[in-house]
Amino acid sequence: MAKVSKSKKGASAGNAIPLGSQPFLDSVNHYFDKAVRYLNIPQGILNQIKVCNSVYYVRFPVRVKGDVQVIEAWRAEHSHHRMPCKGGIRYDQAVNQEEVEALSALMTYKCSVVDVPFGGGKGGIKINPKNYTVEELERITRRYTVELIKKNFIGPSVDVPAPDYGSSQREMAWIADTYQTFSKDDINALGCVTGKPVGQGGVRGRTAATGRGVFFSLREAVNDPKLMKHLKMSVGLEGKRIIVQGFGNVGYHTAKFVQEGGGTIIGIIEYDGAVVNDKGIDVEELAAHRRNTGSITGFHGAKTIKNGNSVLEYPCDILIPAALENQIYKENAPNIKAKMVVEAANGPVTSVADEILLKKGIYVMPDMFVNAGGVVVSYFEWLKNISHVRFGRLDKRFEEGSNLRLVETIERLTGKDLTLAERKLIARGADEEDLVNSGLEDSMINAYHNIMETLRGDKRMQHDMRTAAFVHSLSRIGQSYELLGIFP
Ligand code: NAD
Repeated sequence: MAKVSKSKKGASAGNAIPLGSQPFLDSVNHYFDKAVRYLNIPQGILNQIKVCNSVYYVRFPVRVKGDVQVIEAWRAEHSHHRMPCKGGIRYDQAVNQEEVEALSALMTYKCSVVDVPFGGGKGGIKINPKNYTVEELERITRRYTVELIKKNFIGPSVDVPAPDYGSSQREMAWIADTYQTFSKDDINALGCVTGKPVGQGGVRGRTAATGRGVFFSLREAVNDPKLMKHLKMSVGLEGKRIIVQGFGNVGYHTAKFVQEGGGTIIGIIEYDGAVVNDKGIDVEELAAHRRNTGSITGFHGAKTIKNGNSVLEYPCDILIPAALENQIYKENAPNIKAKMVVEAANGPVTSVADEILLKKGIYVMPDMFVNAGGVVVSYFEWLKNISHVRFGRLDKRFEEGSNLRLVETIERLTGKDLTLAERKLIARGADEEDLVNSGLEDSMINAYHNIMETLRGDKRMQHDMRTAAFVHSLSRIGQSYELLGIFP
């Protein structure tokens, strides 16, 4: 079915964009333009890669608190060079068309950098989810899904959404159920959306995947002796002082894995305040406090700072913005004191701020690589859905049997017996979560080294990891277009 493009400029981004900051799409296009100077791709192909292929803008009515409310929503498909398109759905009052287009472009570049064979997509529903009951949110989500079905903007081979800011596995389950209702004959229907609960066709490890991926990317960087020498930092995570902005899905999991990996979390920032403790904050205790009180503020293990975002400017080794875009902008960038900024959120640093940070010698690890763990594991979930089998189901016991035979042979030859615990550890076959985490780790490690090879292969890029990531990503997309040819 042909794509429908009902474009309309959305409302301004409202209070999500801090004073003096710039539209997210400007930043993404700026990075694109900067990278193409290093590439030898025909201009026509570059023009095609840069633009968003189709955008669907829709308004639909929903019954809310006895009244009818008109909801605005979007779905953008940035690139069809690989199908399906892939990208989250954002539930946020500040969502607008430019933002959704920018995020969908970023998804195209992100998929390419971590070698996931999808085009980029992104959706947005212009609501503040906190203002709706669960029942109302379900109605809005199901109606949005039906609108996407009507215009062929969803489906396992067409466009596959996932969670993003303001949405979670709950919404993904509603989307899957709605799509299945309308596609009874599609055996792959569950692959229409990822980030679902495991009981609804989700894959183990997806919820934590983005944060785990952030951890893997950071671990690779701090274990890179050349990079650490350049930043005058010791190798390894041990003792590094880290601040995380946002304690949602990505922020919480990032903080948790980074702490488990030896880093010291000295500050966590939320929209209603921050908590700081130079000696370190116990991430699990803070999460429990938030569950009990609804806020991270007032936590007994740290000092509460009312103006949360001022903590972005605290001295630390590593600053991890994991909340929203445009958090480090022209006005506050000169005050950032971290040695590294690791973009766990999408677009937290504007392109103007990026130049300021680069000039200050602050190393920026770009979002298109750092937070790609979510889409990597979404890819695994989609593979699981279309192959209709859980990872590890066929080979786990076989692997265990082989390992056990090996252990017994070694015991017989050496005359020494292993303890029960040692036997279990060595013989254990990989289950779904082990395989997902292993595939994620491999993808992030490979992507890091590919980007660094590009960076170190051209001295003009100096220490601009973002440009190197764009160059690496765009060269792959360009190759793909050249091989595909242009139809007709
Ligand atoms: P989320 O809704 O689970 O969490 C976001 C958190 O940020 C919330 O706790 C919110 O209260 C907090 N927040 C909002 N405004 C803030 C502010 N001004 N200062 C500090 N904290 C603030 O969302 P998420 O899924 O964790 O997504 C966070 C970011 O990561 C977004 O940019 C999203 O696009 C990106 N991302 C998410 C995924 C994923 O798998 N969820 C994957 C890739 C990228």
